[in-house]
Amino acid sequence: MSTFQAPKGTYDLIPPTSAVYLAVREAISSPLRHAGYGYVETPGFENVELFARGVGESTDIVTKEMYAFETKGGDRLALRPEGTASVLRAALEANLHKQGALPVKLWYSGSYYRYERPQKGRYRHFSQVGAEAIGAEDPALDAELIILADQAYRALGLRHFRILLNSLGDKECRPVYREALQDFLRGLDLDEDTRRRVEINPLRVLDDKRAEVQKQLTGAPLLRDFLCDACRAYHKEVRELLTEAGVAFEDDERLVRGLDYYTRTTFEFVHDGLGSQSAVGGGGRYDGLSEMIGGPELPSVGWALGVDRTVLALEAEGVTLDLPATTSVFAVPLGEEARRVLFSVVTGLRRAGVATDFAFGGRGLKGAMKAANRSGARLTIVAGERDLADGVVQLKDMESGEQVPVPLSEVTSVVQARLGTV
Ligand code: AMP
Repeated sequence: MSTFQAPKGTYDLIPPTSAVYLAVREAISSPLRHAGYGYVETPGFENVELFARGVGESTDIVTKEMYAFETKGGDRLALRPEGTASVLRAALEANLHKQGALPVKLWYSGSYYRYERPQKGRYRHFSQVGAEAIGAEDPALDAELIILADQAYRALGLRHFRILLNSLGDKECRPVYREALQDFLRGLDLDEDTRRRVEINPLRVLDDKRAEVQKQLTGAPLLRDFLCDACRAYHKEVRELLTEAGVAFEDDERLVRGLDYYTRTTFEFVHDGLGSQSAVGGGGRYDGLSEMIGGPELPSVGWALGVDRTVLALEAEGVTLDLPATTSVFAVPLGEEARRVLFSVVTGLRRAGVATDFAFGGRGLKGAMKAANRSGARLTIVAGERDLADGVVQLKDMESGEQVPVPLSEVTSVVQARLGTV
């Protein structure tokens, strides 16, 4: 029988590179945790209707990319293609919006699934870290989220990313713009699919990447010219707050994003080293989403950053994260008796909080020392029968090569002193 492989469009995170993914998740979530965002975790699947209504019936995500299925019990479910609808559903279900001051600020980290055509940076299973601030209309909240994402990327050492910013208007001004845009688009030479899109979701036509479409879009009405006074003032405030915070951004009139629920502020983080899949993260305001999924009016804003593409961006910029070695001490027993004694030394060190590993499997000294080297441990403990007879182990400093005997009863305290952990 042939061996199995990961399904098309997926890949495994394995050591040592998996440590980079963990560090990226940590770096993205750290600014959120320090800004009052609480952790939320929702199921990997939801009622398919949640996404159809929340993300939008006409979006690619819902029409083409969703892993939707019927369970044996007859429930129509879908693997989550994105996080916002689920997080809002969870907040509404738990009545978080009624339990204290708004906004409810939440962050999450997890796997998402889209049946896409796989290529570098675009997978069928990918991971995101995201944030949602639910229930407040305040330009400072939009600015906060963009600033926190910027902070996360800078903390990782990324430099060649750009922030694209736009406003999509609200329920007052967007319909007026939509009609003007439809009038313009109906006069163009477009294929049937795109003509259908003009009727259902004309803003997304602006996002069409094909040159023959882009060419015809010159002269299309711009949303900027249609924004109502309230949206205009809101957007101005967001821009000023970002500028005051020293966060650079570019105005991008064409930024509409692939999800239907956005209103007012929308933004995308793009990285110039990634080729066609250049968006590393994105988000925006979704003031109408709560009502779309049966909740009360709860103006909200959020973003999701892609972990996979952030890792690719780090590679593209040649940034290597300063990941500390996971093992501080490696124990190498010589002989059966030493195995028992050292194994309990290892357990003692671990209980004292020292990251310790052990040469399992009874290989010889040479193989064991190789494993010790590879572990990145700063100290090795070696013990043979003669050492045990003397009541000591040999403590070796892997950098200097210096080796000293240490009485068995003092191993933990000596190691801690050497590592500077006490
Ligand atoms: P979106 O929900 O489409 O705005 O996606 C937000 C971020 O998630 C993107 O900027 C990407 O970094 C990441 N992302 C979305 N779809 C994929 C995918 N198929 N493969 C890898 N990353 C993705």
